[in-house]
Amino acid sequence: MPETPIYLILLGPPMSGKGTQAARLSRLLGVPQVSSGDLFRDNIKNQTELGRKAKAYIDRGDLVPDEITIGMVAQRLSQPDCAGGALLDGFPRTIPQAEELDQILSDLGASLTGVLSVGVPENVLVDRASGRRICRSCGKSYHLTFNPPEREGLCDVDEGELYQRKDDLPETVRQRLAVYQQQTSPLSKYYLDRGLLREVNGDQPIEDVAADIARVVNQL
Ligand code: ADP
Ligand code: AMP
Repeated sequence: MPETPIYLILLGPPMSGKGTQAARLSRLLGVPQVSSGDLFRDNIKNQTELGRKAKAYIDRGDLVPDEITIGMVAQRLSQPDCAGGALLDGFPRTIPQAEELDQILSDLGASLTGVLSVGVPENVLVDRASGRRICRSCGKSYHLTFNPPEREGLCDVDEGELYQRKDDLPETVRQRLAVYQQQTSPLSKYYLDRGLLREVNGDQPIEDVAADIARVVNQL
């Protein structure tokens, strides 16, 4: 565990590679990846009340309301394994969520270390969506062309079945990108104004993005 807790946000549109990079960075830094999307999908799989409330929004490509999302992430960040820091992937996605995150971290006696903004052109995002596959048991994400599993249809980590997310179908992806532009892209300015934003070019091979991120994190 690092001596000073390191809390980083991976900010970027759907398909920009936040989850892929957060998983790698998590291993590098030894702090957990906290993905709000994964937390929702776990709740849906386990048929919890929260999962039942969130499902319709997710299936439409809309954001789950802040009052549901913020409590879920706050609870996750209060768990002991996040005491040394966390990599936030997919949260915050609205200005109220960002403001609440400041408060949550301050209540934990911590603060945000930095925000990695992963930029990828929209046409590339749409191409990535059609090839993404997810492990049904651990949530790890693959790509049929750019990041294929060793054995077709099976997760390298736990041999779970790979499936295509319903919200990765083209119409829902378009809605998710529109929602990103409207509700999430203002966060860049929010964090730029606070001196926390660092830009990373996400339109390169996965290894190169990871190397750029490692360099940026070293300079924080
Ligand atoms: P996000 O968490 O931002 O939605 P993911 O990490 O799930 O994005 O990546 C979206 C898709 O693109 C996945 O199929 C992933 O394997 C693939 N991918 C991630 N990074 C890259 C990259 N740099 N180049 C090509 N494909 C990538
Ligand atoms: P992701 O796995 O990050 O692509 O998220 C999948 C879906 O979960 C999103 O399209 C939203 O419906 C929902 N979601 C994830 N994170 C958030 C968030 N921070 N705020 C609101 N909805 C979210």
